[in-house]
Amino acid sequence: MDLTARPPAENTMSHFNDELSAELQRLADDALRRELRRIDSPQATRIEVGGRALLNFSSNDYLGLANHPAVKEAAIDAIARFGGGSGASRLISGSLAPHHQLEERLAVFKGTEAALSFSSGYAAALGTIPALVGKPDVVVIDKLMHASIVDAVRLSGARLRVFAHNDLTALEDILKWADRTPGATAQTPGRRPRILIITESVFSMDGDLAPLRDIVELKDRHGAWLMVDEAHATGLFGSHRRGVAEAFAISDRVEIQMGTLGKAVGAAGGYICGSRPLIDLLVNKARSFIFSTAPVPAQSAAARAGIEIIQSAEGHERCGRVWLLVDRLKNGLIALGRPAPLVQSAIVPLIIGAEQETLRAAACLRENDIFVPAVRFPTVARGQARLRITMTAAHTEADVGQIMAALEFLRSDSR
Ligand SMILES: *Cc1c(COP(=O)(O)O)cnc(C)c1O
Repeated sequence: MDLTARPPAENTMSHFNDELSAELQRLADDALRRELRRIDSPQATRIEVGGRALLNFSSNDYLGLANHPAVKEAAIDAIARFGGGSGASRLISGSLAPHHQLEERLAVFKGTEAALSFSSGYAAALGTIPALVGKPDVVVIDKLMHASIVDAVRLSGARLRVFAHNDLTALEDILKWADRTPGATAQTPGRRPRILIITESVFSMDGDLAPLRDIVELKDRHGAWLMVDEAHATGLFGSHRRGVAEAFAISDRVEIQMGTLGKAVGAAGGYICGSRPLIDLLVNKARSFIFSTAPVPAQSAAARAGIEIIQSAEGHERCGRVWLLVDRLKNGLIALGRPAPLVQSAIVPLIIGAEQETLRAAACLRENDIFVPAVRFPTVARGQARLRITMTAAHTEADVGQIMAALEFLRSDSR
């Protein structure tokens, strides 16, 4: 190859940057450009942004555990005993005791035979789905499914079918179609084509629940498998706070229970809970698990401490506070003339619609020292932009009063 024929390096670089800058400009023109905001304080109800203290309604730290003394202590202790890094992937020499202790604790907490932790919920999805399904199989997901699941299904090569949000008739139609459609069995000698249904239990941007009981009935009738992503439900639903599957008493009928350790648990990481064969298969086939350095010991230790708090009387009490405050907020919104939010979770979306208007609403709240994110495409559909308010156990009733006062501009009879 004649290297001298290439354009000089500086020209390539400038072309590269021009092209990317143009793309960024198009995002900005559509009010879709995003930027990082530096926070100079721990994750708490008051966060320091640009030298100002803002009342934070954006965190998924639902139980207020991210900055809990016991969670911090566990992380510090793990660093003292196991160091800063894990050194290798889990299957090489990185399978340190804190990771095993976390997984034992997770299985007890969720009431499953076994559990496996991943460096993030995203990695859990990306490793698990392609380990279970491939080309001849069908994966059926809810329209509002999180990006991690969509990406994982694409990576698996399975046929993807999407049903309208929480629409059981649409789901059943797809299952009937899959029953009639033989998979390319030749590609997987020795097994039938698989059908995998995946849903969230609490939807991350709408805060509503999936009709899990009906979905379980449907999947049994059609011989499909079910994976439930409890990212926004772990720690908050059910008498042991295991999630919505527990609250609906269907845990033992869900093949694959997924969640994250970075939301209510207060640390970071993802998990899969289920049967021993499921976990053993993932150890052998989940590529995001196999080909990635194990999380730092502090991460697993912090997650274990978070789960222990969730299981304790303190966890029960913190969970009760979240529901009390969510009720206060919902009643406040109804008093403002907003339609009664359907949500039964710690996520209360205020759908504004237009991207630009939503950005203005978020800026208006920030002027009142309140931080609520403007959630836009591609996190939600275009024209469905919203303020996403999240309530945590660390908030107070006075905090709810403060955001309600700042939301007065939304009062429907004032315009
Ligand atoms: C946050 C989230 C994930 C990803 O979990 P991380 O631990 O943040 O990577 C997966 N699914 C849903 C529904 C989520 O909200």
